[in-house]
Amino acid sequence: MRLSRYYAPTLKETPAEAEVISHQLLLRAGMIRKLTAGIYTYLPLGLRALNNVANIVREEMDRAGALEILMPAVQPADLWKESGRWDFYGRELLRFVDRHDRESCLGPTHEEVVTDLVRHEIRSYRQLPVNLYQIQTKFRDEIRPRFGLMRGREFVMKDAYSFDKDDAGADASYWAMYEAYARIFTRLGLKFRAVSADSGAIGGSFSHEFMVLADTGEDTIVACPDCDYGANLEKAEAVCPSAGAIPACPPAEQIATPGSHTVEEVAAFLKVAPAAVVKTLLYIADGKPVAALVRGDRELNEIKLKNLLAAKEDLRLATPEEVVAATGAPVGFAGPVGLTLPIYADRELALASDWIVGANAADAHMLHVDLGRDATIVSFTDLREVAPGDPCPKCGATLTFTKGIEVGHVFKLGLKYSEALNATFLDEAGKEQFMIMGCYGIGVSRIVASCIEQNNDASGIVFPPPIAPFEVALINLSPKDEIATAKADEIYAALTKAGIQVLLDDRDERPGVKFKDADLIGFPIQLTLGGKGLARGIVETKDRRISLKGELPLDGFFEAFM
Ligand code: ATP
Ligand code: MG
Ligand code: MG
Ligand code: MG
Repeated sequence: MRLSRYYAPTLKETPAEAEVISHQLLLRAGMIRKLTAGIYTYLPLGLRALNNVANIVREEMDRAGALEILMPAVQPADLWKESGRWDFYGRELLRFVDRHDRESCLGPTHEEVVTDLVRHEIRSYRQLPVNLYQIQTKFRDEIRPRFGLMRGREFVMKDAYSFDKDDAGADASYWAMYEAYARIFTRLGLKFRAVSADSGAIGGSFSHEFMVLADTGEDTIVACPDCDYGANLEKAEAVCPSAGAIPACPPAEQIATPGSHTVEEVAAFLKVAPAAVVKTLLYIADGKPVAALVRGDRELNEIKLKNLLAAKEDLRLATPEEVVAATGAPVGFAGPVGLTLPIYADRELALASDWIVGANAADAHMLHVDLGRDATIVSFTDLREVAPGDPCPKCGATLTFTKGIEVGHVFKLGLKYSEALNATFLDEAGKEQFMIMGCYGIGVSRIVASCIEQNNDASGIVFPPPIAPFEVALINLSPKDEIATAKADEIYAALTKAGIQVLLDDRDERPGVKFKDADLIGFPIQLTLGGKGLARGIVETKDRRISLKGELPLDGFFEAFM
């Protein structure tokens, strides 16, 4: 590729709208351009980086035995109603009505579509297990799209779905994906950690997030410096309009304990408690359970709630009517006027075993204030298990806080979708059984941003070779000089023939401009030819990461370089 005929519009200034370094550098290096909030065009360099990531993901998924398919982005509402998620999913789901007045959505994830496919195709245990994946554009109408490719409304995801005939098989599928993810992020050259996404006691080992460690990460994780233990403390960025930003960790004395609490005490606690600390609270008001708060993933919440309730025989489920009566809130909303919390949708109440489920402390604070009454905290599970400063539960070392970017998520779903959509097979005894599912996501476009968060310096991006849009920038300092140009073309042809991705800077620009651009875009290796070096019969080399400069002879360059 020749830069004179390429499109890599670099920018000198940092665009004002870009807060984090990856967003700034992706714009400045001419890799992406914004169309509208959270929606970007990939320019040639950006697309190459994206494809490099996608290809490594694809190779490792194939190696793990998953089969690539491509599902539609457009999904009918009917399927989502069947699974119960049409109402449950809230406003992040991008919905529309077609010309025949049929309700549809643009897929934020594909559990429904893939389960629908499989239920029509798979009849017998002999056809299981199967793991289907795709690399595809997803749509999520994020409330706060930001940080460029990090949190888009339209983004590229790899999503895989496994179907198994029994629990042991489902666990094996899960761990095979876990291993594949570890290989993927290692190959991509990222500093990452797999953390238990549900650090609570229930179901803890069946959801892991893969976190790229970076200060700009939106997730707070505890990590053990000595072993591989890590857990997600969920997002510390939750903001409650009345309580303000919720800090990452409350001081120990502010951590509430099970027992009776006044409305003020609970509200004060919830103000300072990060979502992670408020793991599982069951509220009892006037002797009746009125609300439950479980941190984290909604789908996981349901499972956890079921388990929790099963463990506490003296509790019974409140009906939606009771909950509405208790909160006084119209179904569909709770909290101060103008604040729409999707968590209180009536459908969701029903799904969540007729309990109100809040996803974070801010929700609970609002709910509680809304209730305006004292509450009993019945259960407050393993509060201290993941607090920084404790003994690592695995090796005893002192845990530390770090920030992470969620780039992958593996999840054992169990029967959730197969039951809802009736995806069954006949087992060895000819008996009909539900398939056991897992789902596994990777944020392909988010990885490009995360990689830049971890790999940059004052001059620009320092791409790890596997992600770099080109491995080598070949800079011809004297494009008007026939000899220099002939030599540059020769080297370009030889390297390209050897399968090396080279971008030849043959532009009629000042050397300073060329070096700055090469540094900014972050090619791992720069080769410079022309000027005094040419007269001396050498090619200058530079390793971008360590800024190490060297020389190689022009004569026999190819052999010396390889
Ligand atoms: P987050 O907690 O960051 O909102 P999520 O838990 O909602 O992510 P998943 O449903 O687990 O996301 O989706 C799988 C992967 O897709 C995530 O691990 C992440 O890497 C990526 N991803 C999710 N939302 C976005 C987004 N808005 N923009 C870019 N990538 C995303
Ligand atoms: Mg999300
Ligand atoms: Mg998440
Ligand atoms: Mg996730």
